[in-house]
Amino acid sequence: MSWQQRINAALNERREKGQFRQRRVNQQGDARTLQVEGRQYLNFSANDYLGLSHDPRIISAWQKGAKRYGVGAGGSGHVTGYSAVHQAFEQQLAEWLGYPRALLFISGFAANQAIIAAMLGKDERIFADKLAHASLLEAAALSPATLRRFSHNKPDSLAKLLSAPAEGGEKLVVTEGVFSMDGDSAPLAELHQLTRLHGGWLMVDDAHGVGTTGEQGRGSCWQQQVKPELLVVTFGKAFGLSGAAVLCSDETADYLLQFARHLIYSTAMPPAQVCALQASLSCIQQGDEQRELLQRNIARFRQGAEQLGLAISPSATAIQPLIVGEENRALQMAEALRQRGCWVTAIRPPTVPPGTARLRITLSAAHQQEDIARLLEGLDDANRQ
Ligand SMILES: *Cc1c(COP(=O)(O)O)cnc(C)c1O
Repeated sequence: MSWQQRINAALNERREKGQFRQRRVNQQGDARTLQVEGRQYLNFSANDYLGLSHDPRIISAWQKGAKRYGVGAGGSGHVTGYSAVHQAFEQQLAEWLGYPRALLFISGFAANQAIIAAMLGKDERIFADKLAHASLLEAAALSPATLRRFSHNKPDSLAKLLSAPAEGGEKLVVTEGVFSMDGDSAPLAELHQLTRLHGGWLMVDDAHGVGTTGEQGRGSCWQQQVKPELLVVTFGKAFGLSGAAVLCSDETADYLLQFARHLIYSTAMPPAQVCALQASLSCIQQGDEQRELLQRNIARFRQGAEQLGLAISPSATAIQPLIVGEENRALQMAEALRQRGCWVTAIRPPTVPPGTARLRITLSAAHQQEDIARLLEGLDDANRQ
């Protein structure tokens, strides 16, 4: 097969399975609305849970930061890209989350790849929740370490795998705080206890928990009073920006600075963005009101969905999936919702396990009461079709 044939065959297979992915151009939008092909929709697909992506305080911090530090870092943090504002923000994050150190990465995907690659060698083992994010599972699969996947949120399943005989080597257990496609939370205390019992380390990716849960928005680990050895937080969700950080011990941070190639061979985050992230952090710390609004929207939505008899998954977070099973059904329902002015994304395999295609509904503090009512009406109609 030539390259061209191989590419065509792969595309055809995706099309035949109804799994062909296409991007839609969002012409203008925020946490509440978006505009596609000239039409306005209510946005129930964003991860902008607190509505910070368009916050004027953060926009202004970005602009001021750009004037002062420039728009680009100009190099890797190991060369000249690490500025006073990077250092200050790392310290703020570490203090806020109660760790000795924080290191910034340009994205959550890069952070997970970098950390797993740097931490694990041959003859070591990585144990990941079956539903962990693609960035974690892919990094684990690429690693020379042995990957074992435990049943979703099942400490018993992890315990069995951890007890399997093996010839030494370090063990890393990997999970999410709040699962991105299901909205459920991991039993972090049990997982950490088990991990420690077997002499391993726990890595928690709290992309969807930080900002929205825990005192001052400190996330799932804070809420469950668990301090994993490695905590990853990302800034593309509740922070409303992009980027990520790992929270860890002094020695682990120094180790990652030696061996995490995504830090060494990649341009540092733009300093103007770091200034915006500082403003976003301060919004999150003072964001009890937004978190309350979000909780109110979640409660409203769940109550309404229950009254309508919709089989919404049990989730207490901003991610409220309606699992419909069949892929075409999910697409049809998403289309029916669009016709009613609600933008909800159908999530299909391979992003989620086969037979669990779903509408991934996400709520934000930016949604108003009537937005939730409109979503519920749309869902009810789509469900009857
Ligand atoms: C979104 C997400 C990531 C990727 O983060 P980016 O900063 O968008 O690259 C990693 N892990 C989880 C659980 C996520 O939901």
